[in-house]
Amino acid sequence: MAKKMKLEYIWLDGSKPTQTLRSKTKIVAAAKFKGKLKDCPMWSFDGSSTEQAEGKFSDCMLKPVFVCPDPARKDAHLVMCEVMNPDGTPHPTNARATINDHDKDFWFGFEQEYFLYDPETNLPLGFPEGGFPKPQGPYYCGVGASRAYGREIVEEHLDICLGAGLNVEGINAEVAAGQWEFQIFAKDAQDVGDQIWVARYLLERTAEAYGVDVNWHCKPVKGDWNGSGMHANFSNTALRKGGKKIFETICKKFGTKSAIKKSIEAYGADNDQRLTGLHETQAIDKFSYGVSDRGASIRIPMGVANAGWKGYLEDRRPNSAADPYKVAAVIIDIVNS
Ligand code: ADP
Ligand code: MN
Ligand code: MN
Ligand code: MN
Repeated sequence: MAKKMKLEYIWLDGSKPTQTLRSKTKIVAAAKFKGKLKDCPMWSFDGSSTEQAEGKFSDCMLKPVFVCPDPARKDAHLVMCEVMNPDGTPHPTNARATINDHDKDFWFGFEQEYFLYDPETNLPLGFPEGGFPKPQGPYYCGVGASRAYGREIVEEHLDICLGAGLNVEGINAEVAAGQWEFQIFAKDAQDVGDQIWVARYLLERTAEAYGVDVNWHCKPVKGDWNGSGMHANFSNTALRKGGKKIFETICKKFGTKSAIKKSIEAYGADNDQRLTGLHETQAIDKFSYGVSDRGASIRIPMGVANAGWKGYLEDRRPNSAADPYKVAAVIIDIVNS
């Protein structure tokens, strides 16, 4: 029997206000698949089941844009796709196609925070039913059974991501109990978005095997518990070459009324619950920037100022459930405005 390969086609659905992941498996002859994008054919799906089409005209197209091995599945690859209309134009739910950086000037590093949740109690791992764990303090970068909850999932996910060739730069336990982070960097706005979405898919699938949910909401636990962000660290040639003036000019572009509106619209649902001015955030109705300031909207990292104002900026406002394609598209538009 001729050898077969499993290709998992992954795409974003039309759920509002937050798109979610969908995927299905395509079996191809191994002889025809060398692991390259050009070996992945176009495919289609029933858009009437994903809030992307009407039943009478239901087919949406899947255009492969990123492929990598799937180390956790036998003879398998993962294929991130853009959703296209039948006429070949981008579907309205396809934010990847709105990224306007043809000369590939921008680099991005996203810090993806999330909570691991027990679906039975609907609480983060580490939260006892009907009560609370110890207040925040010991959990950030903590170790030990009463500080770090769900590490086996986090470790397995990290190994799968690295095996897939994703450019994960680090992981850490976060400030709330059951909250974690991974960081991914790429020298291409579309590529970093592809990698974040594939890493999110792999996290969902890894946790699923443990009967654990991933909660991407930006403020799942009310009260004195940190929300989840997806800080967007970004640079272009101008920021990398540097100069204090360049940093100030670009920060100021983010502070105009129209830029703030555009940013907040792209930075994830329910961000008013997270951007309160507490828990290392600036309030949603305020804008500020500052060196080493984790209470600012945009932080200029200390190391960047120390290195003679060369490097990158951190927009702290995007939240954990934001679409990295939308975040990157807006940041590029504002910087280039
Ligand atoms: P912190 O938690 O202190 O905010 P992290 O170490 O979690 O910082 O994340 C910093 C991110 O900044 C990393 O993902 C890294 O890839 C990214 N980064 C570093 N240099 C640049 C650069 N020149 N352009 C874009 N992103 C960068
Ligand atoms: Mn971080
Ligand atoms: Mn963090
Ligand atoms: Mn950060």
